[in-house]
Amino acid sequence: VTGKPGEFFAERAWLGPEQGLATGVLIEHDAGGIITKVRACVNGSSLGPSVRRLRGEVCLPGFVNAHSHAFHRALRGLCQARAGDLSAWRSLVYEVASRLTPESYHDLATAVYAEMLLAGYTSVGEFQYLHHEPGGRPYSDTNAMALALLGSATASRIRMTLLDTCYLRAGVDGALLEGPELRFGDGTGERWAGRFAHLASVPLEATQRLGAAIHSVRAVPPPAMSTVVAVAHEHDLPLHFHLSEQRSENEQCLKVLGLTPTDVLHDAGALTRQATAVHAIHLTAGDIGRLGLASCGICACPTTERDLGDGAGPFTDLADAGAVLSIGSGSHAVIDPFEETRAVDLNERLSQERRGLWQVGNLLEAGTSGGSRSLAWPTGGIAAGAMADLVTVRLGSPRLAGCNVAADPARDAADELLARIIFCAAPSDVDTVVVAGEVVVEGGEHSTLGPPAAVAERLRKTVTVALGAGV
Ligand SMILES: [Zn+2]
Repeated sequence: VTGKPGEFFAERAWLGPEQGLATGVLIEHDAGGIITKVRACVNGSSLGPSVRRLRGEVCLPGFVNAHSHAFHRALRGLCQARAGDLSAWRSLVYEVASRLTPESYHDLATAVYAEMLLAGYTSVGEFQYLHHEPGGRPYSDTNAMALALLGSATASRIRMTLLDTCYLRAGVDGALLEGPELRFGDGTGERWAGRFAHLASVPLEATQRLGAAIHSVRAVPPPAMSTVVAVAHEHDLPLHFHLSEQRSENEQCLKVLGLTPTDVLHDAGALTRQATAVHAIHLTAGDIGRLGLASCGICACPTTERDLGDGAGPFTDLADAGAVLSIGSGSHAVIDPFEETRAVDLNERLSQERRGLWQVGNLLEAGTSGGSRSLAWPTGGIAAGAMADLVTVRLGSPRLAGCNVAADPARDAADELLARIIFCAAPSDVDTVVVAGEVVVEGGEHSTLGPPAAVAERLRKTVTVALGAGV
């Protein structure tokens, strides 16, 4: 947060599904990084010297990555290189998890969040369950890992909701944690709550806050779920959980508990407006009704879901039922908010064999304001009361060249331009990224971590350490 008010001018900015792309937009923000006033149709040649002109032709609200496991970034591409089911993938994840220290995880996550910022994400929800030393002994500061990640958010300058995750067992049948999974476990719901209370007493930056998470129906028994729900409700915190990512999870849950995972979470009191179900793919009509009725958040991670062969979620049905969609890059198969946003629609086109399921404005809301709701930040959007979190796109690359040429004078060219950006842009088209009124990326370069090549080198080094390959 800048600590002082300021003004930005954008050649064109998206002001929401109703107003669409407006021209000549002046965006004022206060010292707390909140937008106080937005004016359109301002003449850009008559601006005062205090107004900062944003580079890049089109300004959008900053994208919100509502679901991240930062350390999975080390495994990018390996899902393709090595075949196998979700459990084979999981053992690879555990291998990396077993190597990380608070120091090496801090370095890796800083690089990963820098990649996110360069790509146009301004906020991240970090779903954190790597709590303890290998073997499960707590660090001398029991929240050393969570604090390392909050430090990475500070170093990279991304906005973060740290979702501290309860993870107690290996299977819905009650199988105990063993080997690499021991690091994730607090033992009981009460001990998770004790550690969380300690973390909640640490002062955070203005762009950081905490949330709670139940890893999944697999990893948390119902009584402990209720403990996490009670902590979340008591402090009015966002509550996240993985839900019905694969069919086998549903089958085991039905076999052992006689209920769908959605019903188990409902019985634990978890389904509220503050809740976000991550994945939510294999749902019954009853599950969809429950999630919608409660106005739950739903975090789609389409590139991860596609990578792991999870399936395509019933996202239009969920939205129709009243759920609020957001996006996340989960395992970081790619870090690309344009791809994640359009894939919500594209994956469902494949599963439903039809198109026209989503309006582009609603997709962009899923990529922005749906995520800020899920992470408990003020509205994501370019409007008074919203965060001054912005991203601008350049139209000059070969990839986007021609996308601002009106195809049909009878149609609204601005609406078509937005669709063309969401369906065709890539992270390399991002010019400027603003978080809480501060310019963090400009000309495609991070203000403190350098140009893309420097961020790439940081990623190469930290991934090398995470993979145990020696530097
Ligand atoms: Zn996840």
